[in-house]
Amino acid sequence: MPALPFAAWIERKAGKPFDFLRKVYSLNFSEPYHDPEICGKVLEAIRAEIDRPLRFMEVCGTHTVAIFRSGVRSLLPPEIVHVSGPGCPVCVTHEREVAAFLDIAGRSDVIVATFGDLMRVPGPKGANLKSMQAEGARISVVYSPFDALDLARRHPNSQIVFLGIGFETTAPTVAATVLMARQEGLKNFSVLPLHKLVPPALEALLAVEDLGVNAFMLPGHVSTIIGLKPYLFLAERHGLPGVVTGFEPLDILQALLIMIRQRKTDKPTIVNNYKRAVSDNGNPKARQIMNQVFDTTDALWRGIGLIPGSGLAMRPEFETFNAFSRLGLQLPEVPELPGCRCGDVLRGRIAPNQCPLFAKACTPANPIGPCMVSTEGSCAAYYKYSI
Ligand code: SF4
Repeated sequence: MPALPFAAWIERKAGKPFDFLRKVYSLNFSEPYHDPEICGKVLEAIRAEIDRPLRFMEVCGTHTVAIFRSGVRSLLPPEIVHVSGPGCPVCVTHEREVAAFLDIAGRSDVIVATFGDLMRVPGPKGANLKSMQAEGARISVVYSPFDALDLARRHPNSQIVFLGIGFETTAPTVAATVLMARQEGLKNFSVLPLHKLVPPALEALLAVEDLGVNAFMLPGHVSTIIGLKPYLFLAERHGLPGVVTGFEPLDILQALLIMIRQRKTDKPTIVNNYKRAVSDNGNPKARQIMNQVFDTTDALWRGIGLIPGSGLAMRPEFETFNAFSRLGLQLPEVPELPGCRCGDVLRGRIAPNQCPLFAKACTPANPIGPCMVSTEGSCAAYYKYSI
């Protein structure tokens, strides 16, 4: 079929065949991004252009899983090594925070509403939400915080507590839920505010230790909200490139090629390789809703400790929706999980299979630490795709 006039024009401008471009920019979002032919071309370029070792940190747990699941890991040249970072919200939830939500779940007047990935996170003495549910605790798995509002409407004599655990990705929706609860005058709904912010954690990690990392693969989901600006310190103060990218094989390979090319320049930058989902400026409306309800605060991260300005606390005018004050709760002191090295995994110090308990005492069926529980956890990904 002869090329349409505009197709010929695009071909001339781009210097590439229209069919190739149509494949890349197709409105079918997933197909071209795992096309073997296109991926193979980028992989060839990676192999041709890499001239020194590249150790990159994939900050996001979904990237960890995508790198394994797609098979990309096994195709990469040996100079490229990936380490996982603190980008799985369940994994970085501190032991004391886990103990706090288990305390809430044990209260007879409370119904806990939570996303399903928290159900098997082990707390003190091996208890978890699932085991407590089996013993009669009222725990409801929801798909949206708005479902928790529905619980509050249907159970006016119970306190409904939504577990606010996640990153910038989920915080705006939780904030919108609080606004709706206030609008409806709901007196039996509150949020346990434990959200965490990704850029301050990266900044803290780089401030305290040499990660030995040459570049960052930055989280696609979080970046839909925050955009590129909060990552600029990586390039400007640490001279490290960062690439926001998606989760298909082509996204990952393109990000690696960009990292390789960036390292050859004197001025590394933060690149948006996920323009089909992420605007450079993020989502200002979502941030405005988030900032209306939450303010930044210091937060505890598993294996890292207290990071200034890395969490979200309820603003005073929304204190009535804060489960800590509603239930008179504080974070209890608890011991670390014995033997679990999630902290070292989350800091990129060890690979999951270097933990002595990996695939022995700790498996997805019998997880000892949260990194083996969450579907985004590095230990779970290593177990599922490399055992
Ligand atoms: S393998 Fe298990 S015990 Fe070891 S770091 Fe991972 S979750 Fe913790």
